[in-house]
Amino acid sequence: MNYNRILVTAALPYANGPVHIGHMAGVYIPADIYTRYQRARKRDIKFVCGSDEHGVPITIRALKEGITPQQVVDKYHGIIKDSFEQMGISFDVYSRTSSPIHHETAAGFFKKLYDGGLFEEKETEQFYDEKTGTFLADRYITGTCPVCANPTAYGDQCERCGSSLSPEQLINPRSTLSDSVPVKRKTKHWYFPLQDYEAWLKQWILEDHKEWKANVYGQCKSWLDNGLQSRAMTRDSNWGIKVPVPGAEGKVLYVWFDAPIGYISATKELTDKWSDYWCGQDTKLVHFIGKDNIVFHCIIFPAMLKAHGNFVLPDNVPANEFLNIEGEKVSTSRNWAVWVDEYLNDFPGCEDVLRYVLCANAPETKDNDFTWKDFQDRNNSELVSIFGNFVNRTFVLMHKLCGSKVPPLHAEIVDDDDKWLIEEIESTSKRVEENIENYKFRDALFEVIDLSRKGNQYLQKKEPWKKTKDQQKQIDNALHLCLQLTANLAILIHPFLPTTAKKMLRLMKVVEKMLDWENAGKVKLLSTGYSLRPPELLFRKIEDAEIAAQIEKLKAGLIKTETPTEPQNGKQIMENAALKPEIVFDDFAKIDLRTGTILSADKVAKADKLLKLEIDLGFEKRTIVSGIALHFSPEEIIGKQVVVVANLAPRKMRGIESNGMILMAEDKDGKLHFVKPENNIDAGAGVS
Ligand SMILES: [Zn+2]
Repeated sequence: MNYNRILVTAALPYANGPVHIGHMAGVYIPADIYTRYQRARKRDIKFVCGSDEHGVPITIRALKEGITPQQVVDKYHGIIKDSFEQMGISFDVYSRTSSPIHHETAAGFFKKLYDGGLFEEKETEQFYDEKTGTFLADRYITGTCPVCANPTAYGDQCERCGSSLSPEQLINPRSTLSDSVPVKRKTKHWYFPLQDYEAWLKQWILEDHKEWKANVYGQCKSWLDNGLQSRAMTRDSNWGIKVPVPGAEGKVLYVWFDAPIGYISATKELTDKWSDYWCGQDTKLVHFIGKDNIVFHCIIFPAMLKAHGNFVLPDNVPANEFLNIEGEKVSTSRNWAVWVDEYLNDFPGCEDVLRYVLCANAPETKDNDFTWKDFQDRNNSELVSIFGNFVNRTFVLMHKLCGSKVPPLHAEIVDDDDKWLIEEIESTSKRVEENIENYKFRDALFEVIDLSRKGNQYLQKKEPWKKTKDQQKQIDNALHLCLQLTANLAILIHPFLPTTAKKMLRLMKVVEKMLDWENAGKVKLLSTGYSLRPPELLFRKIEDAEIAAQIEKLKAGLIKTETPTEPQNGKQIMENAALKPEIVFDDFAKIDLRTGTILSADKVAKADKLLKLEIDLGFEKRTIVSGIALHFSPEEIIGKQVVVVANLAPRKMRGIESNGMILMAEDKDGKLHFVKPENNIDAGAGVS
């Protein structure tokens, strides 16, 4: 298929908080690389995005902060937009779904499907808050988790134990709006019959798009194999796009119905010719998203587009997996994330370093890990020591040995090493091109860095600094080619590190036109005799102290979702009287219980219930903070054997990190007793 234009969409970020580096790595950086490259190829391309501003989490946040949903989205739309601009994400338009043009477009889309008789109307029972007169989405209901007894679990999920729940499972369910007990009430909604599109989707994805990334194709296949069902495309709420049909008062479009239509609205905002991009069958539509959005972009939205009938379908959906932080999954509710706005404050002028690290380490085929140490290593040993070093050496030597001008190339003495370098410049640009076209951005970036590494090898071999005055021709040739290589590096690195490419243009005193992709691979980009600017470093070294500060910041910002006040002991469990819900053996087997011996016990300042214990587990010593100070004096427990939950995640109490928990039993008078082996045995022995 030959395309005449490309439309790139990037997942609409949710205007409920700032964006973090996982979003950048998964969606916006790859989308921007792809777009910048296509623009450099002079292709007709539009890059659209905007804030997703509807949905329940926004109304909940507004409720918690005592402001309106509009104020919430205004705040985060501004922060997110700013982060993208500073990171050099070059959208042609960054719109928002609260805009009138989007309301009109999304409502019109729904109306067309409705008029075509494509929705099923169904009445179901849903939870309702009688005090405020509103239907409650699952998130609006809280209660006690039946799995872990967390008293503030949501109707869709418990954030402490991660179980997915339905509101019916909660013990003592309450409405978060009024704290009243929710009741069931009938409500009508419009369902989109996905099953009607199943056969078509199977053909379109599983047969016609076998080239899609394995993670995307696999997820689609599993959805399709499991069979599709009708999905409600409306919700009871006052925040969102009003359902534009009779009898739909108090109902809005489901946020996942309206959000992808946001791509269409954004394009409308951008250009009067929006329908060329959306309705021309010669448009290549590409959705950049994270893996959590695959079903919406590969199944639901295409089925909607198909049902509507006027629009082009995506050619590819190169979704990425997730980026973890320091070995743990990103959690916005626990604040385990690196926020882009904060990064930009902490590392001013280093947006390209983050772009580099997030692309070099992008979760293209599997979940990947971001660590601050790796961030530092990649900056210091790749950007500074390889790429930056090559450009800097070339400029320093050219000023020193060639009178600050581009030296000539003496054809009569061009040798095999020179030919090798010329060949590498040409072939690398082809490989970069091929990788970007196939959404392999890591491989493409690796090629660029590798080319600069080859530049260093070449210089090392030529050693122009060791040549004598009568070997000026050899000096000229070496630096002539290194300068042509520098010009090529600027072209090739530009989609990845746009700010760096601009700095290089400045050094070479050439205009932006040079970055046109048609120049890639050519070795006559800088004219002989042209004078160039003095060297300037492209990157700076990142120091250990900066990295230590970031790791400290990440850990200090972590919010424990558990009720943080009371130390863990048997007490809370006893008060719950009834048995906890049944578990299977595998649940129990996850708990690593070990025998340990108390080596020391100290009172914790300003905490009269806490003791800080050092426990010998045989294979290591542990600090555990335990709420037993009112039951035992420190002296009387030293040397006692105990049973420890050895794989409990660390938690901080009064500034002390506690690494485990000691098992205690509570008698009817409320006195605590250690649970321990009948006879003293080796420390570290497993308990099961
Ligand atoms: Zn739970």
